Amino acid sequence: MQTKLFIGGEFVDGLAGGTIPVFNPYSGEIICEIAEARAEDVDRAVTAAKAAQFAWGRADAADRGNLLLKLADAIDAHADELIELEALDTGHPVRDARKLDVPRTSRCFRYFGGMADKFEGFVPPVYPGFLNYVQREPVGVVGQIVPWNFPLMFTSWKMAPALAAGNAIVIKPSELTPLSTLRIAELMRDVGFPAGVVNVVPGYGHTAGARIAEHPEISKVAFTGSTATGRRIVQASAGNLKKVQLELGGKGPNIVFGDANVRAAIGGSAFAIFHNQGQACIAGSRLILHKSIADEFLDGFTKFARSIKLGDPLDPTTEMGPLTSKQHQERVLHFSQVAKDQGGEILTGGKQPDRDDLAKGYFVEPTIVRAKPTDRVSQEEVFGPFVTVTTFEDDEEALAIANGVQYGLGSGLWTANLTRAHKFARDIRAGMVWVNCYKVVHPGSPFGGVGESGYGREMGFEVMREYTQPKSVWINFDSKMPPHYDR
Ligand code: NAD
Repeated sequence: MQTKLFIGGEFVDGLAGGTIPVFNPYSGEIICEIAEARAEDVDRAVTAAKAAQFAWGRADAADRGNLLLKLADAIDAHADELIELEALDTGHPVRDARKLDVPRTSRCFRYFGGMADKFEGFVPPVYPGFLNYVQREPVGVVGQIVPWNFPLMFTSWKMAPALAAGNAIVIKPSELTPLSTLRIAELMRDVGFPAGVVNVVPGYGHTAGARIAEHPEISKVAFTGSTATGRRIVQASAGNLKKVQLELGGKGPNIVFGDANVRAAIGGSAFAIFHNQGQACIAGSRLILHKSIADEFLDGFTKFARSIKLGDPLDPTTEMGPLTSKQHQERVLHFSQVAKDQGGEILTGGKQPDRDDLAKGYFVEPTIVRAKPTDRVSQEEVFGPFVTVTTFEDDEEALAIANGVQYGLGSGLWTANLTRAHKFARDIRAGMVWVNCYKVVHPGSPFGGVGESGYGREMGFEVMREYTQPKSVWINFDSKMPPHYDR
């Protein structure tokens, strides 16, 4: 297991010699201490990235792609180890990591490996006598800051397109969950990524993260995390006017209409909120139910929530693990009190499970709360296995509730009515709309939000535009334009 910073192709200690403890959220024990990156280490990493940038950006794009493809193969070959590492570090059940996190990670590297030599510029039709071509060039050294909820997968979402586009990167995993990113760095070294192209600087947000955001020689910062930190990143980026891409919080509306297949909606809505202990920006955390099916839905949904198997993430039968940190567990539990203070009714959960074998872990029971759309718990991101429920009479009311928050990221609709589905897909304020499904993602489909959920997009051609800049080149064949002086 790698525990040091990865700078210029080598694993090194931080200059100040500090370390950060990494906890197992199931046992509460320290797994290991990792080297802490501080501002001066970020500076070293940027210097290494700058030195690598020119050659990487000018390399044959197919060679860049091939390295990403080799990395994808290496990830698949080390799947068991990565699954275990993610479970130990984050509390993801191995069942989820095997089905989702690891395959999605290798798929992302593979997708952008294939994209590297296919993303193209264009030739706009301009004045006669001129050729104008627009090439897409790398933006330069990119800083990337990721959160703790899907560390392995988000590392691939950040690294793969940036590298395919020809940028060298300095990436900071969350101080809480750095282990899988460090292992990916080791695999990258082993498959032959040139030194300095990828640098990993695990450190705290207010030191290493803040330095990335303000660094004068970083051309772009791509951030995934909370809306509050996103605001700080924007402020810090102003110094050199770096490009900013923000994937922030969410409060996903999940609407079940009267004509929905209620059984399918129950299972899909449980996945929408309880997968990964609800620690997902796109979680369907606000259930909005039509009055006609509300009782039937809630009866089945509550039973479903109570049947979810909590346990050791390393046990292949566990469906829900602990939250990733003690501090976060306390925050999520506090929201049950916040709900009650405003007249909310806890239908199930709202507390730690009463089981000796789970007592040391940072568990929260799957929680369903009846609340008004204006209550704090219906407005603020809880980021846990915590879903609010409210009902509606007609489509107009459903849309008003769905759009009545500051966020606009994921959203879900359960209906058999095609016209209604398309109408809501048009009118809902969100970056992603899932109809009769939830949380489906693919590297080819843009991912991101509107409003206080951020701006810019991950995935697909959209993200390649984010990681490149257009350069417009004019060739004059035989034109007298632009107008010359009349002499
Ligand atoms: P966070 O904002 O606290 O931290 C995210 C990252 O930013 C961490 O690496 C942290 O060290 C770093 N950071 C903290 N302060 C910083 C600063 N001042 N300058 C620079 N970096 C700093 O978020 P979190 O608690 O780790 O993650 C949960 C949040 O992430 C939730 O709000 C969730 O919705 C959001 N999220 C969004 C998406 C998305 O794609 N939209 C995906 C996953 C998570």
